[in-house]
Amino acid sequence: DVKQVGCVGVCNQVPMLEIHKEGEEAAFYTKINANEVSEIIKKHFRSESWMSRFKNRFYNYAENLTFSDIPISSNRYNANEEDTPIAEFLKGQVNIATEYRGEIKPSDFEEYKSKNGFEAFIKCLKELSPDQIISQIEESGLKGRGGAGFPSFIKWNLVKNAKADKKYIICNGDEGDPGAFMDRMLLESYPFRVIEGIMIAAYAVGASEGRLYIRAEYPLAVTRIKEGLEILKKEGFIGDNILGSDFSFDLQVFEGAGAFVCGEETALIASIEGKRGIPELRPPYPAEKGLWEKPTLINNTETLSLVPFIIRKGAESFKEIGTDNSKGTKVFALAGKIKRGGLIEVPMGITIKQIVEEIGGGIAEGKKFKAVQIGGPSGGCIPANMSDTAIDFDSLKEVGAMMGSGGLIVLDESDCMVDIAHYFLSFTQEESCGRCTFCRIGTRRMLEILDKIKSGKGKLSDLDLLEQLAINTQKGSICGLGKTAPNPVLSTLKYFRHEYEAHIKGEC
Ligand code: SF4
Repeated sequence: DVKQVGCVGVCNQVPMLEIHKEGEEAAFYTKINANEVSEIIKKHFRSESWMSRFKNRFYNYAENLTFSDIPISSNRYNANEEDTPIAEFLKGQVNIATEYRGEIKPSDFEEYKSKNGFEAFIKCLKELSPDQIISQIEESGLKGRGGAGFPSFIKWNLVKNAKADKKYIICNGDEGDPGAFMDRMLLESYPFRVIEGIMIAAYAVGASEGRLYIRAEYPLAVTRIKEGLEILKKEGFIGDNILGSDFSFDLQVFEGAGAFVCGEETALIASIEGKRGIPELRPPYPAEKGLWEKPTLINNTETLSLVPFIIRKGAESFKEIGTDNSKGTKVFALAGKIKRGGLIEVPMGITIKQIVEEIGGGIAEGKKFKAVQIGGPSGGCIPANMSDTAIDFDSLKEVGAMMGSGGLIVLDESDCMVDIAHYFLSFTQEESCGRCTFCRIGTRRMLEILDKIKSGKGKLSDLDLLEQLAINTQKGSICGLGKTAPNPVLSTLKYFRHEYEAHIKGEC
C-alpha cells in the first residue's frame, strides 16, 4: 500500500519516503527528489508493474510538492547508510501520545479504529463510571503537560463535582512559544486521538459541550480536526445519545488569533466568549466558573492525547514509565544547534545529555555544547555541565527551569547567553497583555537594562537591579506569563553571570 502518514518527528527532512517490507527494518529516504523515486523503488521492489503503480500513486500524493525546489541536503538521512541517523533519532523514544507514529493516515477513521482507536472511549461508555475513570487518571499519576504540571485528576474531580445545569470542556491547543510545535504535531497527525481524549474527559466530568482552541496559524491542524469531527458526527460518535448511551456531546473548533497570553486558561475563556483575551484573577477557577460562567475543564492537547492509552492499557502501564513524581512521557520540540532536531516523545526521567547526544546526535558543526533553554520563554537555561539533570517536573524546578509546554532549544559555544535572555524576554514583553504593572513595565525596564549591557554601556550594579526587577515581576504578576517571564534572565544570571560581566567590562 502507498499512503500518506502523520509526522514522524522530522518534518524538517521532508519530502520523506519510508518503505516497510515484511521481515525487514524500515528504510527511510528524506529530502527526496522526484527523479530519485524510480531508483529508490527499484532498489526495494523488482516488479515493473508494481513500480509504475507505486510511482503514479506517489505522484498523486506529491502533486502539491515542488520537488525541484527542495535542495538535497548533505546531511540527509539515507537508507543507504548502514546506521541510519533517523533510526537513531527514533530509538530511545517511547510513543504514547504519538502511538503508531508514522504508521497511520491522520484522517483515516477506519485505520485509527483498527489500531485500538476509540477502544478506550467505548470502554468508558460501556464499562466504567465517571468515578472509575477519574480513579484511573489519579492512579496513573498524569499531570498537565501545558506547563504547570498540576495533577489532572484534581481538576477532573472539581468539574465533575461542581453543580450546574451545563458543563464545558476545552482542549487548549493555543501553542505560541517560540520553537514549540508539539500541539501542532499532535493535532495534525493524531486528530482522532486528541478528540478521543477530549470525549473521555467530557464523559468523566459530565461536560456536554466542548471547544478545541487551536491557533489559526495551524491551518492543517484546524482542517484535520474539522474533518475528524465531521466523520465522527456521521459515525454517531458525536451528537445526541452517543452509540445508544445517555451521553450527548458536541465539540467545535475555535481558532485563536495568535496572542500568546491566550494560552492562559482565563484569557482563553475570555477569547472564546468574544472578549479581549486577558487573564482574570483566580479564584474562582474555571473548574467552578469557566466558559459562560459554567464549570469548565481545561486541559492541554498533549495531556488529553495521553488519556486513551491510560484507559485502554490501564494506569499501571502508564505509571511504570517515568520517575516517582513525573509519570509517563513528554513530547518535546528539539531544536537549535543540534545535529538531529525534531519532535520527540521521551520517558520522564531521561537526562538532558541523553536527549542531546543520543537522540539529537550531539552538537552540529563540531561545536561545543553550552546549554539548553527548556520550557520556552517561561523556562530557564541549564548549562552543559548540568546535563545529567533528569527531565521531570521536580528536577527542572530545582535547577531554576521548568518543563513548560515542551520547547527544548540546544545552544552551542557561539551563543551569547545575554542575547538569549534578551530574545525570550522581548517575546514575553511584547506578548504581555499589560494588565499588571510589573509585567507591563517591569519587563520593559529589564529589557532596557539588557540593551544597555549588550551595547557595552552597562554597570555592574545594573545586574543587582535586573535581578531585583526580575524577582518583583515574578511576585507582582497575576498570571503565568508575567510570573515566569523573568526565568530566562534569572537562570542566565545564575549560571552565566560572567557573560553579563564580560559585556559590562567590554571583553566581548
Ligand atoms: Fe497580563 Fe502579564 Fe499580568 Fe499576565 S502577568 S495578566 S500577561 S500583565
